[in-house]
Amino acid sequence: MQQTRTTTRRTAREKHLSEFHPTTLACRAVLALIALMLAVGAAVAGTVRLDGPMKQGGLVQGHTEAGTKIEFGGRVIRVSKDGVFLIGFGRDAPPETRLRITYADGSREWRVLKIAQRKYRVQRIDDLPPDKVTPREQDLVRIRSDIALIKKARTRDDARTDFLSGFIWPVTGRITGVYGSQRILNGKPRRPHYGLDIAAPTGTPVLAPADGIVTLAHPDMFYTGVTMIIDHGQGLSSTFSHLSRLLVKEGARVRQGDPVAEVGATGRVHGAHLDWRINLFAERLDPKLALESMSAAETRPKIQETSYK
Ligand SMILES: [Zn+2]
Repeated sequence: MQQTRTTTRRTAREKHLSEFHPTTLACRAVLALIALMLAVGAAVAGTVRLDGPMKQGGLVQGHTEAGTKIEFGGRVIRVSKDGVFLIGFGRDAPPETRLRITYADGSREWRVLKIAQRKYRVQRIDDLPPDKVTPREQDLVRIRSDIALIKKARTRDDARTDFLSGFIWPVTGRITGVYGSQRILNGKPRRPHYGLDIAAPTGTPVLAPADGIVTLAHPDMFYTGVTMIIDHGQGLSSTFSHLSRLLVKEGARVRQGDPVAEVGATGRVHGAHLDWRINLFAERLDPKLALESMSAAETRPKIQETSYK
């Protein structure tokens, strides 16, 4: 018996098996059965497709059938009636993470996601006024209130899928700060910087990068000055800081490309620029990656990073 098998294998290597050899037929039957089971399984269970950068800071758009349950990062992710959902990977996301999928028929899948690890820059700023680096006691109340307002705006979980408009640049200009960089202010290491800083003169119009609803329009926050948050749906939001002027009110419905504010230098800031952040709820994502992966097709300027001084 053993001898026969060995012979068969050798024969197969040497000249391929005859079409009508019994072993080939058996193999084909098994393969056909497997293919059939997979096809039936796929038809019943459904599919999940993920589009976007699988790397730290990346925003990924998922596509599945309505009725599929998606769990990621310890929470159930909202899936639109068209089967669209969003997941994001934080600045320090681990190299491997998992997506739990429960299809409408009850079958389950753990999808393993490999997350590319990035290297971030270190930026030193040494001539900031001391009271903006270490806040004074009387500023802390204001700072806490600012944080609470921002948190509240970013907690909103809306069924809208405005982000499907894609993203455009809210302002164009020299990139002076990137996502993930660590700032050392007056020699003290601070939390990483999560914004994309785009230099532009005060008064330059800031355009809504995607459709959305204005969920925060604040005239004067301690760190971020004149601040605006636009909610793009399903927990995805844009935050604009250091503005000089707000052009729309809280609750306003905005379309991609609408002027919503003007660039400024308010709050803790060196010069006039727009600090643009992207959040998926509390998770801070890289606006540059959102632009690249969800770019509104034709308006797609190249990103030019400049090195720090
Ligand atoms: Zn910034």
